[in-house]
Parts: sequence; structure tokens; C-alpha cells
Amino acid sequence: MADPAECTIKVMCRFRPLNSSEVARGDKYIPKFTGEDQVSISGKPFMFDRVFGSNTTQEQMYKASAQKIVKDVLEGYNGTIFAFGQTSSGKTHTMEGSLHDPDGMGIIPRIVQDIFNYIYSMDENLEFHIKVWSTSTTYNVIIIKCVFPPSAVTKNNLSVHEDKNRVPYVKGCTERFVCSPEEVMDTIDEGKSNRHVAVTNMNEHSSRSHSIFQINVKQENTATEQKLSGKLYLVDLAGSEKVGKTGAEGAVLEEAKNINKSLSALGNVISALAEGSTYVPYRDSKMTRILQDSLGGNCRTTMVICASPSAYNEAETKSTLMFGQRAK
Ligand code: ADP
Ligand code: MG
Repeated sequence: MADPAECTIKVMCRFRPLNSSEVARGDKYIPKFTGEDQVSISGKPFMFDRVFGSNTTQEQMYKASAQKIVKDVLEGYNGTIFAFGQTSSGKTHTMEGSLHDPDGMGIIPRIVQDIFNYIYSMDENLEFHIKVWSTSTTYNVIIIKCVFPPSAVTKNNLSVHEDKNRVPYVKGCTERFVCSPEEVMDTIDEGKSNRHVAVTNMNEHSSRSHSIFQINVKQENTATEQKLSGKLYLVDLAGSEKVGKTGAEGAVLEEAKNINKSLSALGNVISALAEGSTYVPYRDSKMTRILQDSLGGNCRTTMVICASPSAYNEAETKSTLMFGQRAK
């Protein structure tokens, strides 16, 4: 393992509280926290950069896992933050939380706020272009374009492509001009309701897909013409649970296989990076191809491993924690 001070891949682990049905069923609370960086499940210890217990606040989570990356992105680095875990383990709670509630806000709304605060605090010679887009692998892309000082807005329609330098970009999205964090949140809400409509229309009952949110910040000093550009991917991964016991068939089973394939491709990329391998298999999945220029090298990468504390989910929790350990 590389010197932790130099290591650009960080792995955090967060346990949600028992939910009401787990409490009603009398499920046992199984994690034992044995220090800031260690948790054990039925006597088996797991080490991470940080471990967060069930009463960790959204603010604590943000400060420990994401705030530093935002600073780096504003200094021109690229980065990625993932949430990994089985369905209902707290991934979306961690990444998004409640978009409009100051206490409940997850990582994404806090990042958006911090970026705007930074912009508001800068001097007038700086021009900012912030581009935000989001997509699940199946539906919905929105680009929010935020230019300080204001300029024109364009519109077109969607899908992820790579340019001739293999840098991924989203073709044909809705582009939107926004000037405040609130407007970004409203646009995210709108994207979610569009996605909901798409899901209903397709009579699609599976909601397993990766959701990728990208924030791209370009700064230009209009006096010196100095430019700085950094981007950040925020990825709410599809649930990592094994299929099989759910008795999935047909299209749902196919989808589950694809998801499992892309999660293991991601695991392979992260562990190759953590080991410092010369070969990193980015091209094994669409997602790792998209994230390629924001993973590894001097990019900042944080994986938040989300887990259920219930004895009922013990097997799944252990395999989730094992996945996280591969990155160390
Ligand atoms: P996932 O996205 O992994 O499927 P969610 O984030 O939707 O899971 O979480 C499932 C439920 O548990 C949600 O109702 C969410 O609000 C709740 N929850 C998750 N993590 C926490 C937490 N740390 N504290 C309180 N409630 C949580
Ligand atoms: Mg979710």
C-alpha cells in the first residue's frame, strides 16, 4: 500500500441506523466500532480511512469525505466520489439526502453550495463556467450551465460520447443557465421527475442503475487570461446486492448481470489503481470509460461504502465491506 499521505484513493465506510421495520422485527445491530478507522462484523475486522457510525450527521459526512475534494477541484484537479452498497444502505441519502433541507442535505447539494460560496467570494476579474450534468445509465440528462458573468444558453438532446481525445462528454442535453445553488437543486428535482415519468411509461419496475452527476468548473482570469479547469464526478452506484435469491428473470436478470459486471469492472479499476499497477482496465465498462480522466493519476477519488447494520443483511454487508477493502 502507498503512503497514506500520498494515497489519492480514500475509502470511507458509513453505517445507517436500523430502520423501523428492522427495529420492529427485533434485528440485531451488528457493527462494532473499534476506533475511527475500524469496524468489525461478527468478530471480523475491516479497516478504512474512516468509519462512520449510525448517528453521523450529513454535515460530518460531508466534511470528512468531500469538502477537501471540492477545494482541489477549484484548484484544477479532477475527482470522483462514489457511494457503493446494497439497495437501501444509504447511498442516495449520502450523496443527495434532502436537497432543500439545510441539515438533511447530502454531499451533492453541499458541494454545489460550497462552489457557489467560493465564486461569490472571488474578485471580479474571474469568469466562471460551471457545467453540471447528470445521468443514470438508462435515462435523463440535464446540463446546467452557469456562467459568471452571464452569457447565452443553448439547448439540444442526449447520450454520453467520447471526443477524439477520448474525453467523455454528453451530447444533446438540456443546457440550463443557473446562478444560485437553489436553481441547481430545482433542476435536479426536475430531472428526477422526468426520470420518474420515463420509468413509469416504460413500465419498468427495476430501478437499478448508476447515477452519475458531474460538476465541471472552468475559471478564467479575464485580466491575465489564466485558465483553470477541474471536474468532479459524483456517482450513486446501482445496488450491489447479488441477484439469484430474488428470482429475477428475463430483462431484469440481464440488467442485474450488467450491473454486477460494471461494479466488478469498477472494483478491478480501483484495486489496480490502489496497487499502482501499470495496467488499469478502464475500458472494461462504459462507466469506467466515462470516469477515466477523473480516476487515478493525481485525481482525487473517494469511495463511500454504505452498509446496513442489521444482522439480517450480514452476508451482504460483509461482501460490501470486502469490496471497499480492495481499494486499500
Ligand atoms: P440506497 O440509495 O442505498 O438504496 P437510501 O439512501 O435510499 O438507500 O436509504 C434507504 C432509507 O434509509 C431512506 O429512507 C433513507 O432516508 C434512510 N437512511 C439511509 N441512511 C441513513 C442515515 N445515515 N440516517 C438516517 N436515515 C438514513
Ligand atoms: Mg438510492
